[in-house]
Amino acid sequence: MLKMSIIQQEESSKIKVGIARALHYYRYFPFWKKILDELGVEIILSPETNKKIVEVGVQHGFGELCIPMKIYYGHIFHLIENYPDLDYLFVPRYVSDVKEGFFCPKFISLPDVIKILPNVPEILNFEVNIKEFPISISAIELGKQLGKSREESLEAYEKAKNYYREYLNFLREGAPVNYALRLVRRDRPFKLPKKQKKGEIKLLLLGHGYNLFDTYINLDFQKKLHEMGAEVLTIENLPESVFKVPVVVNRKLQNYWIHEEELMQAVRYYLTKGRNEIDGVVFLISFACGPDSLISELIMRDMKVVRLPYLAIIMDEHSGDAGLKTRIGAFTEMIKRKKRFEIEKREQKAEIF
Ligand code: SF4
Repeated sequence: MLKMSIIQQEESSKIKVGIARALHYYRYFPFWKKILDELGVEIILSPETNKKIVEVGVQHGFGELCIPMKIYYGHIFHLIENYPDLDYLFVPRYVSDVKEGFFCPKFISLPDVIKILPNVPEILNFEVNIKEFPISISAIELGKQLGKSREESLEAYEKAKNYYREYLNFLREGAPVNYALRLVRRDRPFKLPKKQKKGEIKLLLLGHGYNLFDTYINLDFQKKLHEMGAEVLTIENLPESVFKVPVVVNRKLQNYWIHEEELMQAVRYYLTKGRNEIDGVVFLISFACGPDSLISELIMRDMKVVRLPYLAIIMDEHSGDAGLKTRIGAFTEMIKRKKRFEIEKREQKAEIF
């Protein structure tokens, strides 16, 4: 009993840091969690996106803003309202994590737009901009704000880096992102789930993590695909080698948006070497996303050339369940019929010979 109350006291005396379960949460949370745990803070994570979070986000985000950003606002307001004792909000600035590209400008300006909201606690700075300085420098800065020495911060950074590498390998082994994130949140070891039943067709689901893995805003899109007999792959499950060489469009244009480049690299793999590994591609796009709408057009042209079925779905806060079901139902049914027809044709040919 005494032991319990000491632990509770220690917990409550820790610095409290709020993190929004939105945007880059779906990409970097394991790294953030590890480094912040090692730096001795208590993390307060906002809940899964819900109706109220979306409504508040839409109310505060201006009209033309993409829905993932509006949702981010909603999560921030949830943290401010429900945790008035937060010491900090962790709102990292992601400029670039490779030498050749940039993140979408919305990520670059994120801490600036959040810090001007009413009643926001202090922002814990963490900038990833490897064109200018290594991430270890940002880790030292982060630790300094939390009263840690350079050595302590670097040690925390090394541990977070290794843990994040382990996490990425786990995804490449085939772990679904939401399943892996659940293990991270609960501090459980990375262990693959029991083998899922194979689907009748296999689809590559393209899109940013915050579109693919936020099951509220995408109306549980992956579950719908599974129910329609599709096995789903996302780019997180692909081997590292797919992302080594840049994509050059028309022999001269190169993408400088990091996320979009990864999506194009995955598509290139399935247009070439991996052509027979999938039966179609679905791209989930946010309404008002400039980078996505541009590459969606390029992807569609390539898909036509190789005759790979392709469906682009644009989501916003008004997307409806019935309409979505009809569209993906028609798409998956068309692929299944095409596949059955090709199998029959092959079998007939085999009988002739
Ligand atoms: S890439 Fe598109 S969806 Fe993502 S933050 Fe930028 S504009 Fe919004």
